[in-house]
Amino acid sequence: MDTELLIGGKFEAGTETEEQILNPRTGETIVAIPEASTAQIDAAVDAADKAFTTWSETTPAQRASYLLKIADAIEADALGFATLESLNCGKPINAALNDEIPAIADCFRFFAGAVRSQHGPVAGEYLPGFTSMIRRDPIGVVGSIAPWNYPLMMTAWKLAPALAAGNTVVFKPSEQTPLTALKLAKVLADILPEGVVNVVLGRGETTGNHLINHPKIKMVSITGDVATGKKVLVAASKTVKRTHLELGGKAPVIIYDDADIDAAVGAIKIFGYYNAGQDCTAACRIYAHEKIYDKFVADLASAVSSIKYNLADDTENEIGPLISKRQRDRVASFVERAAELGHMEIAAGGKLGSDQGFFYQPTVVAGARQDDEIVRREVFGPVVSVTRFGGDDDVVAWANDSDYGLASSVWTKDVSKALKATAKLQYGCTWVNTHFMLTNEMPHGGVKQSGYGKDMSMYALEDYTAVRHVMIAH
Ligand code: NAD
Repeated sequence: MDTELLIGGKFEAGTETEEQILNPRTGETIVAIPEASTAQIDAAVDAADKAFTTWSETTPAQRASYLLKIADAIEADALGFATLESLNCGKPINAALNDEIPAIADCFRFFAGAVRSQHGPVAGEYLPGFTSMIRRDPIGVVGSIAPWNYPLMMTAWKLAPALAAGNTVVFKPSEQTPLTALKLAKVLADILPEGVVNVVLGRGETTGNHLINHPKIKMVSITGDVATGKKVLVAASKTVKRTHLELGGKAPVIIYDDADIDAAVGAIKIFGYYNAGQDCTAACRIYAHEKIYDKFVADLASAVSSIKYNLADDTENEIGPLISKRQRDRVASFVERAAELGHMEIAAGGKLGSDQGFFYQPTVVAGARQDDEIVRREVFGPVVSVTRFGGDDDVVAWANDSDYGLASSVWTKDVSKALKATAKLQYGCTWVNTHFMLTNEMPHGGVKQSGYGKDMSMYALEDYTAVRHVMIAH
């Protein structure tokens, strides 16, 4: 198992406090890994800064060829990466191997192609006697910080566009889930020139804090909690760093009375609970029309009660445990507080999912009201709330009444109704009659307190480059 930091092409052990890396299925320690010292983080930033001079001068075609090699190497060891991710996060092996790894390899391939086909305004004489042109140039050293819910996927989402654009990176995985990033570091060290990617380990308040305050880091890209994003903004203000923030979500799902209820139930069973609901786009805040509400709740409760987890044969499991005891207890406390209010019904689940490990039962909380905590706050677990709305209620306004703005969905057979709702919803993404479907060609990112950085797509390439104007006097 790889446990060392990657600093300027060399591997070395961190020298500070050890972090226990746990198996969330059992709660047992997989390995203890020491975090980086500030001197080691500084060395990583210096290595990235030095590498920037030559990496930023490579052609798009050269950078593309590196990214394609990274994609091939991940694919060649797909089972190794998926098994490690499954161990560290508790994800069912099939989800890690068949859903995540192909999308991760495709992310590197997409940006290999995208950087060779960027578009922009036309060069020309916008003032007589002067020719103007636009450049998109790399920014410098990017400090990238990832969360624990999709560790390798977030690594890919952060590295691929940043490297394609010609930046160098100091990457910090979550202190809870560093194992696949450390395995990838071995691949990167073999393929990339020295210092182009560096990997440092440690907690947010130590390693993360040092990175976001580092004067040589020109851009911070972080996926995490809203509160963490705000800390990044404060730190960035000191040296006016560029920031790329992908923060939390609380996705509303509007089910109109003419929706295909079977399709909606089938989809929410998957997309409300995928990755044990530890997903910022999870279909977790349902608004169901009063005409179909009772049937919808009954069908959803029955479907959710059949979700398979914690079975000895992991290929049977549909979801895994929560990442930690702390996260599981946090999820449980949301459901307990909802039940105590009296007007909500726990229609499915509502209890710890096992004696060992950090499982929580897939749960449906019905009868939730707009002002309830379960409707307003991000639970980040396998818990979906259902709120009833009637013909006179402005359900789109309810959906928008949230600090979050990442993802949303609308379920109806009426195209006009769907388009009216989509136009008004204040979310980075709105799906119609589906949820959670992502593709590397399309952007993923939020509005409001969900942040403003875009991952995937040409828009990510824009985020990781600076627009520059060059004017030549004739
Ligand atoms: P978190 O904010 O606690 O941690 C995310 C990362 O930030 C970790 O690597 C952590 O070490 C680091 N960090 C924490 N404090 C820091 C600080 N003061 N300075 C620098 N770095 C710091 O979030 P988490 O608990 O790991 O992940 C869950 C959160 O991430 C949820 O809120 C979820 O919605 C969000 N998320 C968002 C997206 C998205 O695309 N918008 C995707 C996945 C997760």
